Amino acid sequence: IGGGGGIVIDDDWPGYCLDLFSYPAHYSGDLDCVVVPHGVIVDRIERLARNIMDDLGDHDIVVLCVLKGGYQFCVDLVDKIKALSRNSNRTLPMRVHFIRLKSYLNDQSTEDLHIVGAEDLSFLAGKNVLIVEAIVGTGKTMNALLKHVESFSPKLIKVAGLLVKRVPHNSTCLPDYVGFEIPDRFVVGYALDYNEYFRDLNHICVISESGKTKYKI
Ligand code: 5GP
Repeated sequence: IGGGGGIVIDDDWPGYCLDLFSYPAHYSGDLDCVVVPHGVIVDRIERLARNIMDDLGDHDIVVLCVLKGGYQFCVDLVDKIKALSRNSNRTLPMRVHFIRLKSYLNDQSTEDLHIVGAEDLSFLAGKNVLIVEAIVGTGKTMNALLKHVESFSPKLIKVAGLLVKRVPHNSTCLPDYVGFEIPDRFVVGYALDYNEYFRDLNHICVISESGKTKYKI
């Protein structure tokens, strides 16, 4: 079995019971289960970093971190790549740039993608770009972002997605680097939010119905 699509988490996987791990008490009752524990996320990212180094090593890249949800993934991925650059005979010089997108209200994707503070990305012309995004659902967001980035004529675009959801009408091709393929459920934690809550949770978890109600706007 290849690993190209990431670690597959089946639809009937019940997740881990929250009480097997530690998590902030202010979220007790707000979560159903742990889908990916923090340690497993970090271990998987270590391997993604190696795959990226194998493909892109000795080139310069611009890491384009998709905020806000992608910040933790980006920090951990860049850290692992830095460790490889220090400790192996290949290096990957990186610049890091941030772009902010917003498309969700409550747990529903809204049609219009906002690139918040969409500034001029013309410095991407002729560069190798690695887009770092926490989660790809329908793929609409990634498609829109790819179009936007392509319009600045980079030499190469690769995409790293920590999570890819198995959704019925996925409209994109998969990211080049996938951490986990997960069921089509709304997840939070590891910088993924529900109306700005749960970014301060380190595991990737499924939110409970009462959690949704409590933080609804
Ligand atoms: P898409 O356009 O692929 O349907 O949605 C992608 C965007 O929606 C992601 O960038 C992310 O911000 C958000 N998103 C999709 N699924 C989830 C989820 O399960 N949890 C959270 N917190 N955000 C999600």
